[in-house]
Amino acid sequence: MESKPIYEYIGQPALLEQLGEEACELGQASLKMARYIRSENPTPKTAFDVTKDLVEEVSDVLVCIEELKAAGFINDKTINAMKEIKRTRWYERLGGNENV
Ligand SMILES: [Mg+2]
Repeated sequence: MESKPIYEYIGQPALLEQLGEEACELGQASLKMARYIRSENPTPKTAFDVTKDLVEEVSDVLVCIEELKAAGFINDKTINAMKEIKRTRWYERLGGNENV
């Protein structure tokens, strides 16, 4: 593990830009995997390719998130609270109960 957080090397705006870039790449990887699974619009990518790409982009985003925490932009307490709200709302929209 490096001795100081990434933002101290590149600055906070560049860290946020990196997150934006990686989040877009994650979106593309996720959509490509859905396209592969659905198969209605075939892609030359293999199951290995789409899985590898998704894992790579999830990892990129998670690294950025960890660095945002290190930079003090966000923290686990507020993220966990928001996650609970979002998950509950999602279950409600589905007409279900997450505790069932
Ligand atoms: Mg990436």
